[in-house]
Amino acid sequence: MKQPGNISPIDPRGPLDTSSPPDPGGRQDPQSPRDPNGAGGPRDPSSSRDSARNPGTVPSRFDAIVVGGGPAGLSAAYIMSGAGLNVACLERGDWSGSKNMMGGVIFSRPAGTVVPDFWKEAPLERHVTRREMWLATADSAIKASFETTDFAREPYNSFTVYRSRFDKWLAAQAAAQGAYMVTETLVEGLLWEGGRVIGVRTDRPQGDLEADVVLLAEGVNSFLTEKAGLGPGPEPQSLALAVKEVLALPREKIEDRFDLETGAGASVEIVGETTGRLPGTGFIYTNRDTISIGVGVLLNRLIESDAEAYTILEQFKQQPQVRRLIQGASVREYAAHLIPEGGYCKMPRLFGDGVLVAGDCAGMVNAINSEGANLAMLSGRMAAETIIECHREGCGFDGPSLKRYRDRLEKSLVLKDLKKYEGATPFLQKHQEIFNLYPELLAALAREFFTVDDLSKADKERLLMRLFRSQVPVREVLKMAYDAWRSLV
Ligand SMILES: Cc1cc2nc3c(=O)[nH]c(=O)nc-3n(C[C@H](O)[C@H](O)[C@H](O)COP(=O)(O)OP(=O)(O)OC[C@H]3O[C@@H](n4cnc5c(N)ncnc54)[C@H](O)[C@@H]3O)c2cc1C
Repeated sequence: MKQPGNISPIDPRGPLDTSSPPDPGGRQDPQSPRDPNGAGGPRDPSSSRDSARNPGTVPSRFDAIVVGGGPAGLSAAYIMSGAGLNVACLERGDWSGSKNMMGGVIFSRPAGTVVPDFWKEAPLERHVTRREMWLATADSAIKASFETTDFAREPYNSFTVYRSRFDKWLAAQAAAQGAYMVTETLVEGLLWEGGRVIGVRTDRPQGDLEADVVLLAEGVNSFLTEKAGLGPGPEPQSLALAVKEVLALPREKIEDRFDLETGAGASVEIVGETTGRLPGTGFIYTNRDTISIGVGVLLNRLIESDAEAYTILEQFKQQPQVRRLIQGASVREYAAHLIPEGGYCKMPRLFGDGVLVAGDCAGMVNAINSEGANLAMLSGRMAAETIIECHREGCGFDGPSLKRYRDRLEKSLVLKDLKKYEGATPFLQKHQEIFNLYPELLAALAREFFTVDDLSKADKERLLMRLFRSQVPVREVLKMAYDAWRSLV
């Protein structure tokens, strides 16, 4: 069997998000381009399992193969290799994180169940002490905000991160536990024997790898999950397209404009004019010396509208309350990514004989609360715990044994939350007025309410009621409220 290829570099510096070249300052061997025989490639010996544990030896077979070096796959690889299993984690990118991006924040409690006290070492940007929600129109914004110094203390609540750095760091932790981190390797298919998955086929010559069990953590483009017969694969009405820019701004300016203590951060989620009146949200996250800004829009509505996602982002940046925050900032990166927002009813089966799925490819995104990386890490951890248990008990990796994975998820917030919001995406698809009519109407009411003119307060109240009724029939509001209650509460 060929030797696994590139080992992820562990230098946590490097480019910020996806589509960027590897860090020239990273510890890669320029003399070792990818070996056409599948054996070589730039590698960081300090992060490989063979140098970490078994110098010079490469197993011909693994206890477990993980496909995908994102939060789900890396969490699983970290936990399984920490328990002594022989694990390979296969990643198509140059390194873990090189193809990944998000807004976004990592939530510390779920992440801490994978790597305890990770905040002491992981490459993080800012601990978030304030969350804001805005309803925006072209020229105004209604804002709700929560801030606490509690989130500035251990264990914190969430941190803004660059995925290219965070994933690279997590991959190094998994490698240090003994996992083989095999990068620049696309898994093209699954190996089958008697209706059971027994390994994977990679794009490397002689690139078949075998294992007792395969964990698919391939992200939103769930082609292997489909090949495993677990689900139909992604559909436009269950996907959101997110586009994002990283804007450079000096850290003092960020703290000044967002009114933050040194090192603290804010996350802002915005509904309304931000998404060109389509179902979706805009977001702004503060990093150390950059701002992540973007919009995510339901893909089928975007296609129907003929609008360009990039144009929607440009318009969002021109919204006056947004423009003020990013003024003078220069664009450092641009990236786009899909998000699976189909929710519980669109999830694939979570296991089959010899195979499990975790994270985005299992549809584990809570779009209402902008959570996905935490569900990916938790599901990766629970898949790993199930595999470790089956490995120790020698009970095989057929469907009935792997059902324990689903049982674990059922008892956790992962499936509880996904079930709770199972009607969310259909609700948002149905009630597009939430993204255009209601923000406009509420802003008009607020403007009238706060405008001091020659009307008495009683006349003003009557005017507000008339204004409200003229825009939306009461029966429509009640219907929307009823649907919201059934889908979201
Ligand atoms: C704009 C945006 C903002 C977001 N903001 C947040 C946020 O603030 N908080 C939050 O919790 N979540 C957020 N999310 C969601 C979060 O990013 C995802 O839920 C999370 O990344 C899922 O992790 P994963 O490991 O399942 O998949 P991924 O992170 O997509 O990782 C999958 C990995 O598998 C690799 N891969 C795929 N196919 C193959 C193959 N065939 N062979 C080898 N390798 C393969 C990919 O290269 C990738 O590295 C956001 C997402 C987006 C797009």
